[in-house]
Amino acid sequence: MKTLTKKKTGMYENVMHQFNRAADQLDLDKGIRKILASTNSEIVVHFPVKMDDGRIEVFNGYRVQHNNALGPYKGGLRFHPTVDIDAARALAIWMTWKTALAGLPYGGGKGGVEIDPTKYSQGELERITRRFTYALGENIGPDVDIPAPDVNTNPQIMAWIADTFASTKSPSTRMKNLHVVTGKPMGSGGLEGRDRATGFGVVVTIQEWAKLNEVELKGKKFIVQGFGNVGYWASHFLNQLGAKLVAVQDASGTYFNKEGIDPESLNEHASKHQGNIAGFGNATLIPNEEFFGVECDIVIPAALGNQITMENVEKIKAKLIAEGANGPIDSAAEDYLLSNGFKIIPDILCNSGGVIGSYYEWLQNKRSENWKIENVLEMIEDKIGIAFRKTVDTAHQHNTDWRTGAYMVALKRIEQTYKERGVFP
Ligand code: NAD
Repeated sequence: MKTLTKKKTGMYENVMHQFNRAADQLDLDKGIRKILASTNSEIVVHFPVKMDDGRIEVFNGYRVQHNNALGPYKGGLRFHPTVDIDAARALAIWMTWKTALAGLPYGGGKGGVEIDPTKYSQGELERITRRFTYALGENIGPDVDIPAPDVNTNPQIMAWIADTFASTKSPSTRMKNLHVVTGKPMGSGGLEGRDRATGFGVVVTIQEWAKLNEVELKGKKFIVQGFGNVGYWASHFLNQLGAKLVAVQDASGTYFNKEGIDPESLNEHASKHQGNIAGFGNATLIPNEEFFGVECDIVIPAALGNQITMENVEKIKAKLIAEGANGPIDSAAEDYLLSNGFKIIPDILCNSGGVIGSYYEWLQNKRSENWKIENVLEMIEDKIGIAFRKTVDTAHQHNTDWRTGAYMVALKRIEQTYKERGVFP
């Protein structure tokens, strides 16, 4: 197993703790356990970019490829100061479980650039993205490793990656390389509905939970941490079902309104203020540390990892936590929540709508087709529904929590593949 060199987020310990717990309960084959406890490759690149004022800056970029037993590596690229090898490793491993659980023909990868993108102009961000893509070279590709948007990356950034990657290919094969990334804009091979796929999927899992528990979502109160792609769309769809958004927190502040915050007005405000909710008029600014203590029925973390820890977990009032973000709860806080009767819809299930949407974009590109949003959302709903029921059934059979149940479904699928194919040579 590879050793850790640097630790900022602590997410790697969490993912390994979760993996070991599920592997123990499943009595996973020892050899396969060794393979899955390690990453296949870890790419670190340092690349120079010319800034607007003529200075040269050197950036650190990462791509970790965890496992590709089921298909090409798949997973997002993040532009954030916390991106490092430890974070990329943890997030890549989560992607392997997520794609396996969803029944997709993919493995897991993740990466990004260690930057605060708010400090750079649009032109600088474009050059950083293109140069990072060039530095990754043949390590990515439509049948090798397919990145997608994540924190602070968006369809525009995906379009630059696709264009840079395709531009390095011979003219006759350029169009066959555009699906090197998913989450592209509509004019560049993007899929109708990919923008909302993750938030939509989060709400599908909440609906499944409600069905299972015969609970009415209308009138339920929820709070959302992070009001970017996942946070906004999850709020949008849950609000459409009659639930009430009572508090939102993002990197710029925390806002509360017990009468409900309209996600559409908040999104309109944020889009005029560089994505930030700060300054929103129809809610009260409250201290950040009060967010998780807000009275509500559902908490949706949709920002960064390790946000719910022993420092704030006891404040949580809601009985359901739907993990829009990857790894938002650390291991100690999870133990506390599970032993106190809270329900957690685990990230690898809850936010899998994004990678399922990406799969349909990739298929659409491979087949040179254009699919309609209604069909896309229906297909995502079907796949998440299947994964949800498998998770709940497996957890029930093994008398365990939903996260461990979800891991078991994923691990069994990968174990079967290794058992059938063997290990070369
Ligand atoms: P995004 O960049 O669109 O939004 C991130 C949000 O988090 C922003 O509102 C930002 O202000 C907020 N934030 C950042 N730091 C914060 C802090 N310290 N406290 C509170 N809020 C903070 O990112 P996104 O694509 O919505 O991703 C959010 C989470 O969902 C990530 O964990 C990501 O890995 C996960 N996810 C995203 C997708 C996808 O399709 N975009 C798919 C699966 C999982």
